Amino acid sequence: MGAEASSSSAPADPQPAFAIRGLTKVYETSAGQVHALRGLDLDIRKGEILVLLGPSGSGKSTLLNILGGLDRASAGSVRFEGRELTAETERGLTAYRRAAVGFIFQFFNLVPSLTARENVMLITEVSRDPMAPEDALAMVGLADRMDHFPAQLSGGQQQRVAVARAIAKRPKVLLCDEPTGSLDSESGIQVLEAIVKVADDVGATTMIVSHNTDIALIGDRVIRFRDGHITELSANAARLAPREMRW
Ligand code: ADP
Repeated sequence: MGAEASSSSAPADPQPAFAIRGLTKVYETSAGQVHALRGLDLDIRKGEILVLLGPSGSGKSTLLNILGGLDRASAGSVRFEGRELTAETERGLTAYRRAAVGFIFQFFNLVPSLTARENVMLITEVSRDPMAPEDALAMVGLADRMDHFPAQLSGGQQQRVAVARAIAKRPKVLLCDEPTGSLDSESGIQVLEAIVKVADDVGATTMIVSHNTDIALIGDRVIRFRDGHITELSANAARLAPREMRW
């Protein structure tokens, strides 16, 4: 059954951010083929926060990487605002990624020899219409830590620098892969608060991947993944603030 079929009451979105049809990813390995995505159908609405849950190895990162232009599909179609990503050249995909996508990964990937501000500047200096690095850092509650180096910041603060870096170019899409995976619960809550706030402020279509089912309620919709396909798609009546969730 297609994913959209399970959200029976929701009308079809005429202009989704992403329209995904029959998306398939097969990795060829020395041990044989690995079917990471098995024919995914999904529309992702502009500006929504979508939480992706599922066990390790179920295909969540593969989906995120294809939507973000870091990887290519084996078959099927992904349209971003009507543009067929699966037909893009390498150059086209790089341009899409640079202009439209912000990434947040589990391990913050900051440059250790640069301050928080300089880490954000790496992105703003090559973006077309960025916000000031100081504004991006203020949005995530780090106005007083701009000149600190990563080693002088806690894990949660480092991840919030990564959130500022991802959002500073005002991306249309914000992709977060296990953003709280290496944080304690209080730091994780602060990072999720930062993600929700910046996503709403810039109107980014946001996906948060986690294997922690507790975060389901902070999204507009929740997808459950298993073995490369969607087993459940549900909508929350209202989003829960990260601080109110049971962790
Ligand atoms: P998740 O993010 O849910 O943990 P992944 O998307 O990382 O799942 O992986 C889905 C499946 O694809 C797993 O079986 C994984 O081992 C496999 N896989 C992911 N990346 C590669 C790769 N580069 N080469 C071969 N297999 C891969």
